[in-house]
Amino acid sequence: MTPVPEPIRQIGTIGSYHAHVYFDGPDGRAAAEHLRAAIADRFAVRLGRWHEVPIGPHTLPMYQIAFDTALFATLVPWLMLNHQDLSILIHPNTRFPRRDHLRDGIWLGQPRALLGSRLPEDAAEADGAGTPDTTPGGTTPI
Ligand code: ZN
Repeated sequence: MTPVPEPIRQIGTIGSYHAHVYFDGPDGRAAAEHLRAAIADRFAVRLGRWHEVPIGPHTLPMYQIAFDTALFATLVPWLMLNHQDLSILIHPNTRFPRRDHLRDGIWLGQPRALLGSRLPEDAAEADGAGTPDTTPGGTTPI
């Protein structure tokens, strides 16, 4: 039996993006600091707080960059050129956090492990509100 293709998803279901910048050890931390300062100088993004220990699905220290869809075409190529060997996960924010992170994201540098079981399948189930946290100003650290 031929597998049934998944339905085509509309680009408008992407509310925003995250870039998670992972670091490890003093050299990695220094590179992440340098990158963060350079981003703050150039892009209107929301820089999340430093997480010095693994949190949620993330298995390394990291910080999150939340940004509007309109910035993708400039910020992502800039990160391609300037990630300095750091691992960065760039993922869409739809109402499906697990697949946003595990299936639909892109990696710069070495891909890192994620604990998928810590991500809700459907954001509506997770908070019961039926509204995905897709705003760049969202406080959810996922
Ligand atoms: Zn995220």
